[in-house]
Amino acid sequence: MITRQDCLALDAADPLAPQRNAFALPDGVIYLDGNSLGARPRAALQRAQDVIAAEWGNDLIRSWNTAGWYDLPQRLGTLIAPLIGAAADEVVVTDSTSVNLFKALAASLKMQADAPAHAARRIILTERDNFPSDIYMAEGLIGWLERGYELRLLDSWADLPAALEGDAGAQVAVVMLTHVNYRTGRMLDMKTITAQIHAAGALAIWDLAHSAGAVEVDLNGANADFAVGCTYKFLNGGPGAPAFIWVPQRHHAQFTQPLTGWWAHRQPFAMQPAFAPVAGIKRAMCGTQPVVALALIECGLAVFQDVTMAALRKKSLALSDLFLALLEQECAAHPLELITPRNHADRGSQVSVTHPHGYAVMQALIARGVIGDYREPQVMRFGFTPLYTGYDDVWQAVMVLKDILDRSDYQVDAKRTAVT
Ligand SMILES: *Cc1c(COP(=O)(O)O)cnc(C)c1O
Repeated sequence: MITRQDCLALDAADPLAPQRNAFALPDGVIYLDGNSLGARPRAALQRAQDVIAAEWGNDLIRSWNTAGWYDLPQRLGTLIAPLIGAAADEVVVTDSTSVNLFKALAASLKMQADAPAHAARRIILTERDNFPSDIYMAEGLIGWLERGYELRLLDSWADLPAALEGDAGAQVAVVMLTHVNYRTGRMLDMKTITAQIHAAGALAIWDLAHSAGAVEVDLNGANADFAVGCTYKFLNGGPGAPAFIWVPQRHHAQFTQPLTGWWAHRQPFAMQPAFAPVAGIKRAMCGTQPVVALALIECGLAVFQDVTMAALRKKSLALSDLFLALLEQECAAHPLELITPRNHADRGSQVSVTHPHGYAVMQALIARGVIGDYREPQVMRFGFTPLYTGYDDVWQAVMVLKDILDRSDYQVDAKRTAVT
């Protein structure tokens, strides 16, 4: 039997508890949606004031140099690198995750097309349950290319080894997978799967949208080929903040992408009519970056300087374990079904449960200050962000859920208008 006292004791002994002060969270809210939009670092308000009033307002165009605007995409990349097992010069923050995935896919297809032994490969493999935008971006690219590429959707990631075998496997150019599934919270074994993909002669692109800042990631240790990810989720960079793209050093020379804007030019200010790519990770960029949004990301990343991913992961699992145990203890009478793996190695930093009235129950939770979110079909998602979520928050969230379920205190015909 777990009691509230137990949860309070866990908070009192939690070495990460002080990090919560780095975030401004409204009173009366238990925020379990940091996997979709991270909370605001306190420092972001002052940073926004500085970048708008001083850097833009006073210093005007000089700030590209004097305030370091120009280097911001790479500087942020160096801060993200240690969180994902990357070298400092392998990451840049620019554009959106969808756009960066498009670049990584295009680069992969080109690299394969340029390798005589692989030039005939025409298949892009992914999971049917991948984040829809990832699937749409691949469809968009190959539909536009009209070179006979085919997007093949696996019913499950478990079908991947079979799909990589034999003649069919020899057709696969690239496999794009999301490391932690947005709906179920299931985490894949990046190292083993990347090795399987390479053994079949294909390239491996990883989407880290629900991984960066949430779980330990070792891109170089896994020998992955490309990766992309969001900064506005677990990295707390701000709504719609630009995303990152990782290109390992071993691919820098062959890496080309079709969005060849001037920020990827060797001499952007030479204003030459011909494009010539810059060396290194800046090749992944396109045009002028949204400086205000970029500047705020630094506030989110600064918090990670004071913690280790190992400590965050440990607490994340403890929080989701507690949530699972309390669901069983308090809500066993209700038709909740866990779709997140129980096994630690297979679990990201969220727990997803289905309920026949999942949408309505989630709206009732949000109305009572417990903010998670809903995804079709019937899935209630609860994200655990160890930087600012405590054990007593988990206790309180489950008690509110229990009360809503025990009293059927939700509107079954709630109109589905909310984004969350
Ligand atoms: C959140 C998420 C995205 C978001 O992409 P945007 O371009 O920022 O809209 C992409 N992929 C996955 C797997 C995600 O979870």
